[in-house]
Amino acid sequence: MSIKEIYNTMEYGPAPESNKESVAFLDQHKRKFQLFINGKWTKPSSGEYFESISPSTTEKLAQVAEANDKDVDDAVKAAKKALKPWVELGGHGRARYLYAIARQIQKHSRNFAVLESMDNGKPIRETRDIDIPLVARHFYHHAGWAQLMDTEMKDYKEIGVIGQIIPWNFPMLMLAWKIAPALAMGNTVVLKPAEFTSLTALLFADICKQVGLPDGVVNIITGHGNTGAALVNHPDVSKIAFTGSTEVGKIIRRATAGTGKKISLELGGKSPFIVFEDADLDSVVEGIVDAIWFNQGQVCCAGSRLLVQESVAEKLYKKIRARMETLRVGNSLDKSIDIGAIVAPVQLKTIQELVQQGKDEGNTCWQPSWECPKEGCYYPPTLFTGVSPSSIIAQEEIFGPVLVAMTFRSHGEAVKLANNTRYGLASSIWTENINLALDIAPQIKAGTVWINCSNVFDAASGFGGYRESGYGREGGKEGLYEYVKHRAESEFKNEAPKLKTHEPNNKKENKSLPSIDRTPKLFIGGKQARPDGGNSIPIKDTYGNYISEVPKSSRKDIRNAVEAAHACTTWAGMTGHAKAQVLYYIAENLSVRAEEFAARIVQMTNVSASEAEKEVQTSIERVYTYAAWADKYDGQVHHTTQRNVTLAMPEKVGIIGIVCPDESHLLGFISTVIPAIAMGNCIVVVPSETGPLSATDFYQILETSDVPGGCINIVTGSKDELTKEMAKHDDIDGLWYFGTAQGSKDVELLSAENLKRTWVNYGKYRNWFDRIQGEGSEFLRHATEIKNIWVPYGA
Ligand code: NDP
Repeated sequence: MSIKEIYNTMEYGPAPESNKESVAFLDQHKRKFQLFINGKWTKPSSGEYFESISPSTTEKLAQVAEANDKDVDDAVKAAKKALKPWVELGGHGRARYLYAIARQIQKHSRNFAVLESMDNGKPIRETRDIDIPLVARHFYHHAGWAQLMDTEMKDYKEIGVIGQIIPWNFPMLMLAWKIAPALAMGNTVVLKPAEFTSLTALLFADICKQVGLPDGVVNIITGHGNTGAALVNHPDVSKIAFTGSTEVGKIIRRATAGTGKKISLELGGKSPFIVFEDADLDSVVEGIVDAIWFNQGQVCCAGSRLLVQESVAEKLYKKIRARMETLRVGNSLDKSIDIGAIVAPVQLKTIQELVQQGKDEGNTCWQPSWECPKEGCYYPPTLFTGVSPSSIIAQEEIFGPVLVAMTFRSHGEAVKLANNTRYGLASSIWTENINLALDIAPQIKAGTVWINCSNVFDAASGFGGYRESGYGREGGKEGLYEYVKHRAESEFKNEAPKLKTHEPNNKKENKSLPSIDRTPKLFIGGKQARPDGGNSIPIKDTYGNYISEVPKSSRKDIRNAVEAAHACTTWAGMTGHAKAQVLYYIAENLSVRAEEFAARIVQMTNVSASEAEKEVQTSIERVYTYAAWADKYDGQVHHTTQRNVTLAMPEKVGIIGIVCPDESHLLGFISTVIPAIAMGNCIVVVPSETGPLSATDFYQILETSDVPGGCINIVTGSKDELTKEMAKHDDIDGLWYFGTAQGSKDVELLSAENLKRTWVNYGKYRNWFDRIQGEGSEFLRHATEIKNIWVPYGA
């Protein structure tokens, strides 16, 4: 082509990035990769290997070892052995290694970027300018947290050996998100990359060797889903950190239920991209390119649902179609392409099938006029308009370059449509009106909200989901808590505290007249309520003497309570200051009736009057603690690298089910209920099964303390039965359980379906009188989700 012709057509010529270094790396390993266990390349016990194929060219890149149970066991053993010295090395020592890794990644950044593009099919422009710089940034940032652990995380310690399972869409970035915080906090890891994209993780293993990382601190085992499953089920793994599909996330939740293994899950999404009529539509179009055509749309937080205000919809669609026409799809190593290859034929097929279903449902589909390359695994950018919210393409995660658009008229409708999904990972809001943006942001149920931007990430900011997008955060200080446990956990006991009791002297009672029957009821929606089933259960003291009866609640009562909790919108809308006033009022009213509450404790537990009085006074003090926190449990403004104010806001979880401990009837109730409501949640609480009367007495305090109806709903009865009902209930967002090991397992197992956040005690007992064990930030963290709101600035 002559220069004149080039000027006339302005056609792009090929601009291939050199893959020389990456090819050399593959050749150096003879294109056959072993497992990285205990700092050494180790042949797989099965002797089996699978192929890694470039989706851009269909070239076979290398063979990768298939790890079986024995290899997983060897890797976990190595990580376990490495744990103690790694912890003893201290924060500063670990910071040096993490810093060295960050430096080494930067020094070899092009090789990482090219290899990633070859293996995954994503454009070199993205791996070079986004993925790998973020990887290095993550290790730098966490070198800092390792250095600061002693002071900033002094109440916490490492968890142990961490099993980490990552997907194929951001292979190196996901590795960094997992390994950097885990090592910083003193853990050792066994990581399984996705079968399609293992190569950069193996290059990372080389980096670990180069920086002299102690053997066993990082182990990389390649393989398929069964390798991941073996890691999940290994008894010496103390935590599983997983990113991938919601389906496998649920499998992992069920597999680990009751084992005490911590889990964090970063799962799918169907994130809304909301455009208000005053938005700058040209910026919006570029935002959409970043939202859905970045990484071929294979992004968990892709802005895959475009919600646009009706008045500007047609204008915007026209601009989007014009932009789509100019996007270039092609070989991942071509520096001037926008969209690379889909990771594998199986993923391409899923996309094709979902698009066909979208067409079959009658939605309008538009694709550019040009054709994708014939060789390789490509799919063109696709736009669906006029999509109904219930359409399969509006609900299912397509995980491809497919945007589905629908319109709204009012702000309220925009919020409703945005939240009309079982996911809650991210969202993007476009408007020139900052007041509107900051009004909408808290109403969207998603862990990240980008205002006038999309798919922006940084190590200083937490990332993670609500609802079926999983739980836990990665990045920022909030992400560190996924890799530590509270030091107080070692103080928890296997048995309930022994109480000193005295048999009551019933003869003293005046038997001339029967006492007036006081019938405890349920407390639902701010009103006393009889149980739906019309049954009661007797309550006895420690010596088996009959005291009273309480309602025996059923599934229907739980449903009523959840409905009442949902209907209570006033509580969450109150300021921290206003909530604090109500909590102080509760404390005041409890104080006025302290004697009566103490007498009730004596009656139920047969402890001495002074013991009971101590429990009441501690309860009052505890209410004070959370009244104090109500307007002080602040968020943060993160130091992200872009020109952004990144607001990390603690938000209520929503509706929390609470199953109280059986010991410390009043204090256990107060210590769990009050922090949950202090953070704006409405709750359904099942009080101690053996001693529910402190809780049923308590509703009289609630009635006189300005607590809005539906904020606290008290449901008495069989703890096991009611717990199971709450675990299965789809409209409960979180469940706290303090009871037996079996009950804890039930909670984790049954809550897998809607992935509600759970907090259980695995049958261990806290000392509720001890302030370290019985109150504080651990409770507040479980009562909140962190939402990161990114607000870019600059004129
Ligand atoms: P998976 O969830 O199946 O895979 C994620 C990781 O988990 C991989 O390393 C996988 O291994 C491993 N794995 C698979 N089964 C098990 C198991 N039973 N126990 C433990 N580990 C397991 O996702 P896919 O790669 O199959 O993608 C399927 C869909 O998931 C996509 O279409 C997309 O919708 C979604 N997805 C979401 C991601 C996100 O970031 N939220 C990322 C990737 C996918 P292996 O690779 O060998 O199967």
